[in-house]
Amino acid sequence: MLTEQDLLDKGIKATIVRHPLVQHKLTLMRRKEQSSSAFRALLREISWLLCYEVTRDLPLVDTPIETPVQAMDAPMLGGKKLAFISILRAGNGMLDGMLDVIPSARVGHVGLYRDPETLQAVEYYYKVPSNMEDRLIVVVDPMLATANSAISAITRLKQGGAVDIRFVCLISAPEGIKAFNDAHPDVPVVTAAVDTKLNEHGYIVPGLGDAGDRIFGTK
Ligand code: URA
Repeated sequence: MLTEQDLLDKGIKATIVRHPLVQHKLTLMRRKEQSSSAFRALLREISWLLCYEVTRDLPLVDTPIETPVQAMDAPMLGGKKLAFISILRAGNGMLDGMLDVIPSARVGHVGLYRDPETLQAVEYYYKVPSNMEDRLIVVVDPMLATANSAISAITRLKQGGAVDIRFVCLISAPEGIKAFNDAHPDVPVVTAAVDTKLNEHGYIVPGLGDAGDRIFGTK
């Protein structure tokens, strides 16, 4: 696995969440014998911890409250309203964990497929909350491989008005982060691991296989 310094040496930028619980749970997920139900549960738990990281700088506002003992000014979230955007279908595996941590967030979905002839991303589903320009947008997709889907999804969200966007994934390939940084230098990337490379089929190596299949038990 690459470190932040390795990434900087390659001219790419991402926050790698090295918390031992994240790394332990990710190793359990990578194992090929892991059941779909355990895989889903682990992805949900890691998403809590990735959500914690991607929101660590949210602004707080001191708010007057009364405890049973006395009045005080206590910090509460005071910034923009949040929206989580799932890139279908594997992004849905991260949504529940994100919503466990911030239940009041709005949710959107973006669905894209790759046209086999033009190789361009084609949108088949797009439904997002209103007032995207006023929200903090957290886009989720477990695997940042070529980054084609993430780049296209975020381009689409920007066309829809989004300006303050962050991207969270579980595992990324160095090639994917580089392409993503080049396309969207304004969008921070948070990831639990940066693996070695992409193989000739576009899978992350060593990775964990097809995240959608492993979440939903298809194939
Ligand atoms: N998508 C996946 O689900 N896995 C990979 O390794 C690459 C893309």
